[in-house]
This record gives sequence, C-alpha cells and structure tokens, in this order.
Amino acid sequence: MKYLTLYCLALVFSFSFSLNAQLNLSSLKDKNILIVYGGWKGHQPEIFANKIAAWLKDKKAKVTLSESTKIYTNEGVMRQVDLIIQHITMSEMSGSESRALQKAVKGGVGLAGCHGGLGDAFRNNTEYQYMIGGQFVKHPGGQVDYTVNITAPKNPLVMDIKDFTLHSEQYYMHVDPAITILATTQFTGEHDAWIEGIEIPVVWTKPYGKGRIFYSSLGHNKEDFDIPQVWEIITRGITWAASPEIN
Ligand SMILES: [Zn+2]
Repeated sequence: MKYLTLYCLALVFSFSFSLNAQLNLSSLKDKNILIVYGGWKGHQPEIFANKIAAWLKDKKAKVTLSESTKIYTNEGVMRQVDLIIQHITMSEMSGSESRALQKAVKGGVGLAGCHGGLGDAFRNNTEYQYMIGGQFVKHPGGQVDYTVNITAPKNPLVMDIKDFTLHSEQYYMHVDPAITILATTQFTGEHDAWIEGIEIPVVWTKPYGKGRIFYSSLGHNKEDFDIPQVWEIITRGITWAASPEIN
C-alpha cells in the first residue's frame, strides 16, 4: 500500500510538472513582440515572418513587424519590447544598430529565431555571433535526410518530442560552449568523410546579460514548418524566450 501511494504521488507529480510546463509555455498574452526580417530571399523571410505573426496574434501577443534593422535603434520601440524574433540571413547591420540590439538583449529582452535567420546573420559581426552562441558554416550535401536527436528530454522546450527525421539542410555550425544544448544531429561523412560521426547542436538556449536566447537550426523552407516537431520546437522556444518569469 505504501508503495502504491508513493507510485500515485509520483504519477501526480510528473503529471503536474508536465502540465505546469505547458501552462507556463502558453503565456504570450499581451507580450510585445518585434519580428525583424529580411536578408537572403531564398529563406522566404516574409513568409516566415507572417506565419509567426499570425500565430502570435492568435496567442494575443502584440506584434510589430519590421523589414529593417534600423528599428533596433528606435528607443521607443525597444523600451517596450519583450522579445525580438529575427529572420535575416546574411545581410549587414550598422554598428549602432548592432550595439542597440545587444544593449536591449543584455537588459533582458529575449531573442529567438531559427536557421539562417538567426544563425547565419551578419557574418562579419563577431559580437553578434558571441550573443547568439553559434554560426552556420556549411550544410554538407545540400538538402539531405537526417535525424534530430532530442538530448534534453526533461527540458520543457523539447519535452515529449521524440527524435525525428527530415529532408532539409543539416546545419554544420561552430558553437559556443556556453550554450545549453537541447537537440543535436550527427553527420554521416557521406559528403565530407572527415566529419563522420560528428555531433552538432540543432536546438539551444543561452543567456546574454539578462536576456535569453533561443535558437533552432531547423527551417530552411516553409515546408519545414509543416513538420509538427519543427513547429512545436520553434513555438515553444519563442514562448520561453519571451517569458523571463518561467524557468
Ligand atoms: Zn537554408
């Protein structure tokens, strides 16, 4: 009987933990969210921005869309914002825009994004890369079949998501040891023999000052977001990055 009680308590605890995680992750109402998009057109930045904006509006968040990094120097906007979602592949921003973005994130604004829009932006800006925690360097073989392995299954951002496979760009990234890795992918060596068995992070979080960074390397094209796990990961990450009140 004693063991049965303990078992029941454990069940209740695990259920409530999972439920709490989900409740906490649904707290976007009235958050001020800035989506900044542009850069290389091959990543369909406008389609991504509009898809995310529609989802955020459905969650009752207050959304501002901008096609220019000039908005980072708009103090009125930046003072209000809880989270920045950036989708700008390559491109450049000015020193003052970069410093304004870093200042906002250091002060507690969240920063979230995916694929090249966050992890291959502003290639010559090392302070930016220091903030993000990684930089794309290659996707060997172009679009390939690969597996995403969930490596932190107790973390609410990937909890209850199983390992999955997809056909897309498998990002090989140079990463910062300061990141918290939530999912990884392993390279086969089919295209570059010397990287066979190398494991590279796919999803991570990290701090930058008081701000929280969320990154997923998934999302080369709009079809990738139709994969339920890809969409679940980016939307949970956005919610987490916008919510400093949750762990
Ligand atoms: Zn891509």
